[in-house]
Amino acid sequence: MAVGGPAGLATPTSQEQMAALIAWARAQNLRVALRGSGCSYGDAACGTGKLVIDCSLMNRIVAWDKTTGRLRAEAGATIADCWRTGIGDGWWPPVVSGTMAPTLGGAVAMNIHGKNAYAVGPIGDHVKALKVLYVDGTVAELTPDHPHFQAIISSLGELAVVLEVELQLKRIEAGELEVLGVSVQNFDELFACFDQYDHDTDYLVAWVDAFAGGKSAGRGLVHVAYQLHGNIPPASKAKMTVAGQQLPPRLFGIIPKAWMWMLLKPFSHNLGMRLINWAKHWSGRLLEHNKRYLQTHGAFHFLLDYVPNWKFVYKPHGLIQHQIFIPKDRAKAVFAQVFAIEQRYGLPSWLAVMKRHKPDRFLLTHGLDGYSMAQDFAVTPGNRERLWQMCHEIDQVALAAGGRFYFAKDATLEPKTVAAFFPRENLLKFKQLRSELDPAGVLATDLYDRAVAPALEQLGAPQ
Ligand SMILES: Cc1cc2nc3c(=O)[nH]c(=O)nc-3n(C[C@H](O)[C@H](O)[C@H](O)COP(=O)(O)OP(=O)(O)OC[C@H]3O[C@@H](n4cnc5c(N)ncnc54)[C@H](O)[C@@H]3O)c2cc1C
Repeated sequence: MAVGGPAGLATPTSQEQMAALIAWARAQNLRVALRGSGCSYGDAACGTGKLVIDCSLMNRIVAWDKTTGRLRAEAGATIADCWRTGIGDGWWPPVVSGTMAPTLGGAVAMNIHGKNAYAVGPIGDHVKALKVLYVDGTVAELTPDHPHFQAIISSLGELAVVLEVELQLKRIEAGELEVLGVSVQNFDELFACFDQYDHDTDYLVAWVDAFAGGKSAGRGLVHVAYQLHGNIPPASKAKMTVAGQQLPPRLFGIIPKAWMWMLLKPFSHNLGMRLINWAKHWSGRLLEHNKRYLQTHGAFHFLLDYVPNWKFVYKPHGLIQHQIFIPKDRAKAVFAQVFAIEQRYGLPSWLAVMKRHKPDRFLLTHGLDGYSMAQDFAVTPGNRERLWQMCHEIDQVALAAGGRFYFAKDATLEPKTVAAFFPRENLLKFKQLRSELDPAGVLATDLYDRAVAPALEQLGAPQ
């Protein structure tokens, strides 16, 4: 149940080097795990006993058109590189994750979503073209009408190497968003709040206290955010620069951000995290409820980048993340049941975040018309077995409700769950494509070997 292990490493800095490496690996019968910034939780970018190709230094911005907002970059360019390129000209990436570190290759391979997934879909919906390298050495330019386009986006790096991504950025008129905080007391209020705001807002996200039970289960703090239009305050306009978006180096102007994980470390046990979640709920209720304020795009989106080395809070054994996606009508009941399961196991999530989603057209998508709950769980030698068992129990609850899962946030999924949650025709199509594009199975991460390949095996041979 360990995640990752020893591997060879290569770090190409150009597309030519990447092509040479893939050709060499194929000739040597080596298996290859592609890796971007390694931000996926779990084993998605691990290649135990294989060659890991780190794509992060193949990262040139190839073209930027400030009048149309079209950006073309190599796969190793990050979300940070994208917003830094666009912001001064009034453009922001259409979809960003909770950290700006992911590469475009990693973002496309997982088809990442943002806090606006319910409004604009995942990143794949904003990709205008992909340049890919197939394992046989062929390079191709794919536009959305190409039969491979919707499969390679969401393919976990298992069908082809992404070399370049062309992305449509979105117009912004200000360097800040207007944010409204809404404190909710339970699941009823939480879902009522999402119902109220998921039509005409730009971003919507909730932190939820997974320790709270009974009548308080589902309490939390919702953040609703709007883009500014029209009469923009001069200070907000002035923040449309890279410097204007930088996260402050100190918390409250005093505590260096680099120290924050050390301040949190004494709370890294269930009791401490119960206290932190309780304090967050009450500070949200007393200080943020129904308050509107301006916040830079960077501060709103990249909260965890405020706490460098936040993962050290989970030292020495680390954490896993688990994200379930549940259809709209079932989500409230399922999330309540999931929190109850976690409390029964004595393993409530230390950090739980809810988002709203919509369906999309990508082959191995996690998107559906519903809600997701992403949860962090600390791993210890003492809880490891029970934690995995608990995740499997949660998976069965999610599955019975027609739920889905997200490979970027997974360390525990079982092949039978993978085989059950995707429509069979999607898995068969993926299997067919893989047998055509990579018949020797050169591309294979640990995640693929653990959860996807055995699920494909269960389907039988492609027609
Ligand atoms: C703090 C934090 C917050 C996050 N918030 C969100 C969020 O809000 N929404 C969300 O959707 N995700 C979120 N994530 C997850 C993250 O966005 C995804 O895991 C993303 O895929 C990471 O990109 P990466 O470059 O680090 O890729 P890696 O994690 O290194 O790899 C991810 C996948 O991409 C493949 N890959 C990498 N490069 C290429 C390439 N050039 N060609 C083909 N395949 C390739 C790998 O094989 C692997 O399957 C978050 C992660 C963290 C750590």
